[in-house]
Amino acid sequence: MSARAASAPDTDAVVLVVNSGSSSLKYQLIEPAAGRTLAAGLVERIGMEDGHLQHRIPADDASFDEAVVVPDHEAAFRVMLGAFAAHGPSLDEHAPIAVGHRVVQGGARFFEPTLVDRLVKINIDELSALAPLHNPANLAGIEAAEHAFPEVPHVAVFDTAFHQTMPPAAYSYAIDRALAAKHRVRRYGFHGTSHAYVSRAAAEFLGRPVEELRQIVLHLGNGASACAVSGGRSVETSMGMTPLEGLVMGTRSGDIDPAVLFHLHRRAGLSVDELDRLLNSESGILGLGGHRDMRDLTHAADAGDADAVLALEVYTHRIRSYIGAYAAQLGRVDAIVFTAGVGENSAIVREWSLAGLEGFGVLLDADRNRERSQAARRISADDSRVEVLVVPTDEEFEIARQTLAVVAPPPVE
Ligand code: ADP
Repeated sequence: MSARAASAPDTDAVVLVVNSGSSSLKYQLIEPAAGRTLAAGLVERIGMEDGHLQHRIPADDASFDEAVVVPDHEAAFRVMLGAFAAHGPSLDEHAPIAVGHRVVQGGARFFEPTLVDRLVKINIDELSALAPLHNPANLAGIEAAEHAFPEVPHVAVFDTAFHQTMPPAAYSYAIDRALAAKHRVRRYGFHGTSHAYVSRAAAEFLGRPVEELRQIVLHLGNGASACAVSGGRSVETSMGMTPLEGLVMGTRSGDIDPAVLFHLHRRAGLSVDELDRLLNSESGILGLGGHRDMRDLTHAADAGDADAVLALEVYTHRIRSYIGAYAAQLGRVDAIVFTAGVGENSAIVREWSLAGLEGFGVLLDADRNRERSQAARRISADDSRVEVLVVPTDEEFEIARQTLAVVAPPPVE
């Protein structure tokens, strides 16, 4: 049974899931009970001259690509509605009962999926101070979607919400408390929707209640984060006030001595904006190995490129350090779970990340690790004390599920 089907609510309702970025709009029309995506699409290059639409209908294996003009998010929703009208499925026949929106930063205010109203929008706008690249675009998407779908409830699902269970010892930075409080400087964590979905799906795969399990979930995509999940609750995660902290990523440095910034400012004359760009956009495996994409980096390493090999070593060394740290915080590890583009597909990253952990009861099965599959699977050896799993993430489905839970909660038994 797929994790989608296993955790599906008992209704044939359809939900539209929207992920609105500054220049893109991703959408999926999902029927959660059937674990089915009726349509998925992407409107790209919003605000530029040469917009692009891709609209897919998985059941027909059909995909439509078109050049479109999209000056803003309102126009992107018109393009999306046009795609449904032209290519199907019909939004009259499959009318969404709600729209679920991905919102990146929910601060300390939002700890669960939340019905959007005027006050919620004010709060999302106000939290833009903490996520200037994301929240304004998320809000523009919500407002455009409200115009496109005025009759249905809209629900905000926050990337940060799952991590609101972290204790103060895990989320506080050791800086002046008053200054930190005034400017809301603390760790929030991100990828929460993915960590929530994957930790629950891993428990379902193992056939054990999530409440019993202590897991380390490694979400390794372009952005990457680790999460210690105890009894289904996040107790620690590697991203911080922003997604820059923690693991090495495609273009982000992850952890770095903050004094490196003072040094580069004073000695190399880099401005704050230049340092921001350096650490967020020009670092990580791109900075170390010359490739932001793990496939390209791995090919270069295979061809003997020493920089690429070092980048892979730094990337997996950091993951191993976090596994050790989170094992100590959890006190026991039942499962290590890999997910997202790199975690689901890169055997070498999984192998190198777990190398040397045999003494802690982590034994990888080399053949299982190399096997390619889209399904949730075990890659540890039969005699491994810690289960090692690959569980494909499904953030859109999780947003649809959480949205339904808000607008059509299951009856209390
Ligand atoms: P995002 O964070 O943008 O959602 P994804 O989860 O799709 O990203 O992950 C993208 C990353 O996954 C890229 O670095 C890509 O190279 C990597 N990836 C995808 N397929 C493979 C593969 N077969 N082997 C190694 N890495 C892969």
